Amino acid sequence: MIKNETCKMCGSDKIIQGVKMLDFGHANIKRSLSLEVDKSKGFFHKNIEKSDISTNVCGNCGNIELYAINYHELWEFYNSNK
Ligand SMILES: [Zn+2]
Repeated sequence: MIKNETCKMCGSDKIIQGVKMLDFGHANIKRSLSLEVDKSKGFFHKNIEKSDISTNVCGNCGNIELYAINYHELWEFYNSNK
């Protein structure tokens, strides 16, 4: 995870790191929000790379910064000819 010592908005160092972003599905089941790079060609040729999202929250002003957890894999997939 990328460490950010200070908030970009207010400069505070009260950063809560690694907060999960959740969505509540059917029956209030928690699901982590995730990213998806979709290079699929039609329904039968699914070609998708996913990443969970991690967030840093500023404890002073509430600013949220988002990070893709496996950003390296996303970039490699994005640049590949798969
Ligand atoms: Zn802040």
